[in-house]
Amino acid sequence: MRNFYVPFITLLISLSGVAQERCGATGYFNKMVQEHPSLQQNLQQVGQFAQTYLRNHPVFESSANQPDAATRIVIPVVVHVVYNRNEENISDDQIRSQIESLNADFSRTNADFSRVPQAFAAVAADCGIRFVLAKSDPEGRPTNGITRKKSSRQFWTDDDKVKLESEGGTAAWDSRNYLNFWVCNTPGGLLGYGSFPGGPAERDGVVIRWNVFGTRGNLVAPFNLGRTATHEVGHWMNLRHIWGDVSCGDDEVRDTPRQKTHNRGIPTFPRINADCNNGPNGDMFMNFMDFSDDASLNMFTAGQRDRMLSLFATDGARNSLVRSTGIAEPWNTTAAVPPANTKVASELSLYPNPSTSSMVTLTSNSESRIAGQSWSVFTADGRMMMSGIIGQERQQLDVSKLQAGIYFVKVGNGKMMGKLVRN
Ligand SMILES: [Zn+2]
Repeated sequence: MRNFYVPFITLLISLSGVAQERCGATGYFNKMVQEHPSLQQNLQQVGQFAQTYLRNHPVFESSANQPDAATRIVIPVVVHVVYNRNEENISDDQIRSQIESLNADFSRTNADFSRVPQAFAAVAADCGIRFVLAKSDPEGRPTNGITRKKSSRQFWTDDDKVKLESEGGTAAWDSRNYLNFWVCNTPGGLLGYGSFPGGPAERDGVVIRWNVFGTRGNLVAPFNLGRTATHEVGHWMNLRHIWGDVSCGDDEVRDTPRQKTHNRGIPTFPRINADCNNGPNGDMFMNFMDFSDDASLNMFTAGQRDRMLSLFATDGARNSLVRSTGIAEPWNTTAAVPPANTKVASELSLYPNPSTSSMVTLTSNSESRIAGQSWSVFTADGRMMMSGIIGQERQQLDVSKLQAGIYFVKVGNGKMMGKLVRN
């Protein structure tokens, strides 16, 4: 079913109500396509790229064996906690427990892997993908990979407002370099939703309800083993629901059985459905892309792994993450500060100004003394470029590294501000 995406869109609009309970990704996708019609074509291209890539990389396709070390993909992660009530402001430890759980599930080291039925063990795969909380933010400053924001909004739906600063949410860090999680309160029935590749960059990522995120902390059973995130990250890596979202449908993965629909709770193996003629092993209800309870989910297949890894190949839709500096050591050690106040007082004098020379002289026009105070230079959008301490009342600033543009020079707490034009 190579031309799957046309019926996929049409059929899922009618089925999305069924698919909402465990995961909102399908309904979300349908809404996004209406808003951004190019998404459908983009995703189709991602699917075609995967097919071509896998035809040319038969080693991946041959077995469920661990991919060699060179194919291990490391993904920088940022977790945006957006909370209203204090309990939604989950602990760093709860966040770390989710990262650990993702790493176990995507490397076949999950403690419950031993419960994979023998019939499916041969295709159960180490996906060779690892997740690490970011060490550097998009400006190269140190970070623990977690942002926190209190918001007056009590619930967030799949309308993506949690990704918008203007709505009280938190903007994505550049999704070419980070996997963005938003952890927030969602209405009953929506545990989370992930975006497929090919959508708008500022809305790319995974949204998860605060009390199903992680394996330690304030969690609700039966979704307390971190598998909501595993499932939604699967979507983010272009995995479809295992039943293909239609009756006995195709998920475009070669080694998953046909399934009539999703499973719930804790099914017993084998769960055979005659409609899809999927005996003797039946449904792969323990696959992370089914809807069973967390305690029932324990495996991806080699085919799913290959489909995911194709995204990170050269020219793949998520290849840029492989080159991200998000987990490199921070390079920008200037203190993080709020954007410069662009109201310029006349107390500071900067000359020559405009300036083409490498040195600019900073003095005070008023009685205010500036020696001993801090100075800093900002871009017009508030990024700090340089800083130091003023040694004398007439301080030379070396601005040779500043490109042409408009800058603001702040002294002390910012009451004194000057404007510098570099030509
Ligand atoms: Zn899903």
